[in-house]
Amino acid sequence: MKNRWPIAYQVIKKLEHAGFEAYVVGGAVRDFIREVHANDVDITTNATPKEVKQLFEHTIDVGIEHGTVLVVLDDTIEVTTFRADATYSDFRRPDNVEFVRSLQEDLQRRDFTMNAMAMTKSDELIDYFGGQKDIEKRVIRAVGDPNRRFSEDALRMLRAVRFSAQLDFSLHERTFEAIQSLHPLIEHVSIERVKAELEKIWTSNYVGRGMQLFVSSKLAEKFPGEWDTHLEKWNSFKCFGNAANGWTFFALMQQTDGINELLNYYKCSNAEKAYVKQVLSAVDLLRKGYWTTYEIFQFKEDVLIAAVSFGELIFGISSSYTNESIQQLKKAIPIMSSKEIVVNGNDIMEWKQQKRGPWLKEVIEKMTEAIVNGQLANNRKNIKEWFFREYDE
Ligand code: ATP
Ligand code: MG
Repeated sequence: MKNRWPIAYQVIKKLEHAGFEAYVVGGAVRDFIREVHANDVDITTNATPKEVKQLFEHTIDVGIEHGTVLVVLDDTIEVTTFRADATYSDFRRPDNVEFVRSLQEDLQRRDFTMNAMAMTKSDELIDYFGGQKDIEKRVIRAVGDPNRRFSEDALRMLRAVRFSAQLDFSLHERTFEAIQSLHPLIEHVSIERVKAELEKIWTSNYVGRGMQLFVSSKLAEKFPGEWDTHLEKWNSFKCFGNAANGWTFFALMQQTDGINELLNYYKCSNAEKAYVKQVLSAVDLLRKGYWTTYEIFQFKEDVLIAAVSFGELIFGISSSYTNESIQQLKKAIPIMSSKEIVVNGNDIMEWKQQKRGPWLKEVIEKMTEAIVNGQLANNRKNIKEWFFREYDE
C-alpha cells in the first residue's frame, strides 16, 4: 500500500501508532481487486472524529455528524469512524448514526459486497461477505437481506443500477428481484439524487446496460417521461462526459409535448434546458438536409455536433456534416458572435431617430444575417449605408 496509496498508508500508520485500527475501505478496495485505478481512497477507523482531529495537524470538518473528517496532507483523504446506521424511518437516511467499535459492523452497513471490503496497510484483505468472489463473478449483491437493505435506504437500488453501468456487472438474482418488488420506494429519494445517479449512468462505459436495467428493474416506472422508447439506442449513446447530452437524448425519446415541464421536474439547470432546446431545434432543421450559414452561426459548435449524432442515432437522419466540417463552416463566417459587430442598437436608434421597440430587433437580425452571409462588411461606414438604403423611407 505504501507505494500505491502513500497518503492512506501514512494516515493509517499514524492512527495505528496511536493505538487505533484503520483500513482502506469501499470503492478503493473494490477497484484494487478489479485491477483498475481508484478515484479516491477512503479510510475507516475506530478513532472518533475528535480523536482523528487531535492526531492530525490539518483537518477539515466535512460531515462530522456522519463521523467523517477530511485529513489534509500532501493530498486530502476522508477518514470516517466505524459506524452502524441505526433505524431508518424515511426509506432514505438513518435517523441517527451510531459509532461502533468493530470493523465488521461498519462493513455490514455498506451497500454491496464489492463495496464492503477493507484492506490493512500491509495489503491484507478483509472480506466477510464474499466481495472478492462476487467481483470475480461480476455480480452486484446486497450485503445481507436485499429487501431489508433497500427498505432502509432506497437510493441503494439506483446505486446498484449505476454500478452495473459503470462496471459492466450484473445484479445478483435476489438483489434484482428485491429492486423489482420494492421499486416504489425510490420515490423517497430526492430528485436531485436521482438526477445525479442518472447522470452517472450516462457518463458510464455501459450506458445501455444501465438504462435497460433502469427499465427492467421497474425503477423507471416511478419517474415521469417515457424511458423505454428507443431503449436499445442507449447502447450507442455517447455522453462525452456532458450530462446535458443525456437529457437531450431523453428529451428526443419523448413522443409527447411538455419537454420543458419534464426537465423542470428533474431539476435541470437553465443552461441544461437551453442546451437541450437548441439541440432539438438544430435536429429539426437538419431534417431538411442542411443548415443555412445563418443557422450554423446561431448554434454553438457543440450543439451542432450533438444534433448531427442524435439526428442520425434516433431518427436515422444522414447528413454530410462531420466535426471537422462544422468547425470549418463556422470558421468561414466573418464573425463568431454578434458581439463582434461594430454597430450596436444605440447607433441604429440614433440613425432612425426612433425609440427602442420590436423594429430594432428586426433590424439587428437582418444586419447580422447580412454580415454572417458575407453580403455586408462589418464596418461602420458600410453598415450605415446599408441601413439607410434598406430602412430610410
Ligand atoms: P465511486 O467510485 O463511485 O466513488 P464508491 O464505492 O467509492 O464508488 P461512494 O458513493 O463514494 O462509492 O461511497 C463510498 C462507500 O460508502 C461505498 O463503497 C459503500 O461502502 C458505502 N456507501 C455509500 N453509499 C452507501 C449507501 N447508500 N448505503 C450503504 N453504503 C453506502
Ligand atoms: Mg467514492
